[in-house]
Amino acid sequence: MAAKRMQFELSRVVQGKGKCRLGILKALGSTGHHSMDTPGCLLYSHLGTVPHLTQETLHTIKNLPYVTQVTLSAIAEHQEVLDEFKDGFRKFAGLHDTFLYCSLHDPAAPCPTGYTTNKTVSVWGSGGRIELTVAKFMALLKTVQPDWYQAMADGETWQSNTSRKRVRKSVDRSLAHLDECLLVHQNSPELEGVAVFGVVEGGDILEERVRSARETAKRPVAGFCLDGLQTGSLDQALRTELVSAVNTELPEDKPRLLQGVGRPDEVLACVEAGVDLFEGFFPFQVTERGCALCFNYSICLDPERTVLAQDEVETPLIENGEDNLEDQTQMTTFEINLKDKRFGDDFGPLVEGCGCYCCRNHQRAYVHHLLVTNELLAGVLLMIHNTVHYQGFFSAVRDSLAKDQLDALKRQVLGERGAQTVTKE
Ligand SMILES: [Zn+2]
Repeated sequence: MAAKRMQFELSRVVQGKGKCRLGILKALGSTGHHSMDTPGCLLYSHLGTVPHLTQETLHTIKNLPYVTQVTLSAIAEHQEVLDEFKDGFRKFAGLHDTFLYCSLHDPAAPCPTGYTTNKTVSVWGSGGRIELTVAKFMALLKTVQPDWYQAMADGETWQSNTSRKRVRKSVDRSLAHLDECLLVHQNSPELEGVAVFGVVEGGDILEERVRSARETAKRPVAGFCLDGLQTGSLDQALRTELVSAVNTELPEDKPRLLQGVGRPDEVLACVEAGVDLFEGFFPFQVTERGCALCFNYSICLDPERTVLAQDEVETPLIENGEDNLEDQTQMTTFEINLKDKRFGDDFGPLVEGCGCYCCRNHQRAYVHHLLVTNELLAGVLLMIHNTVHYQGFFSAVRDSLAKDQLDALKRQVLGERGAQTVTKE
């Protein structure tokens, strides 16, 4: 059965330093009745499940993104079982109605480098390394039956010391992989109606980024993944420059998904550079370190939630936090560490005015207690709050774009740091 084709419509392009895009992905799902607003972030999952949350708990959260991300690295080792099951990954994982996007790697699990060859790319699951050729990669996708997938690509050029020669090779290989994927795809009735995202590589070399974007855009792809620009690989100024240059080369009417970037400050800068979609792994990383997202964005929240007032949220500054490019597991200035003793007798909600289940029913002191005694409920409550807070942030980004208030939102989210950036520019 041919699925309806996903459509992407831009409702507003804001010309400024960059080119922010407000848009909507339409005709999603088997009936084609679902949509997702952009800029937005995908729902991050481990094998289809949002970590810590059952489907039932997850769906108590309103306005979740309609697109769920699963990673081939996690699924590859289950191929035999999936083959035997026959009905695709969505049904296998007991997922509710959702649009499934299959990426190559898990953005929250750094992938060891040094294992790609001209013909293969390696992914790492819980059982170790799995080497994929395009044939194996496509066979897996036929088993998974996603709605979108990222084409196979050589993304091992994110380290700053990568040579120009290696970067050029990665662009060439990724284009060759894409052509091979498209060829198999066109001859696979099982993949009819499924959309392919081409992958733009090019490390930190501007000319290679532009070449990769131009060449990928010539292929019949439905959207683009911008790879190799993840947090920790380069500073934001360079990322903005590269993303803007790439986006100038890409067609306006196809969505651009930036991989590996989730910090609110970096998201805002990349939205300004024309990115439409992000991976939603950041709330998970925050949860894993026992932290709660706690930053300001009061431009817009959905009507069911109380507006967070400017001074109700305290954003503690962490030494060196913002300058750390090496470690994605390090706490950022957008969160509070609830394991900290000072929260042991703090009877307020995680964030004053937050309408999530955790904030409506529990106090910081209780979550602190759950964390220090290693109770599983701590992860559940934190994941609920962090997901709601992060989705609220994206909703605020979209609303600020619609109302031409992105600068005001930036000042609010970035606080002092934002103010400094604004004066410099
Ligand atoms: Zn909350």
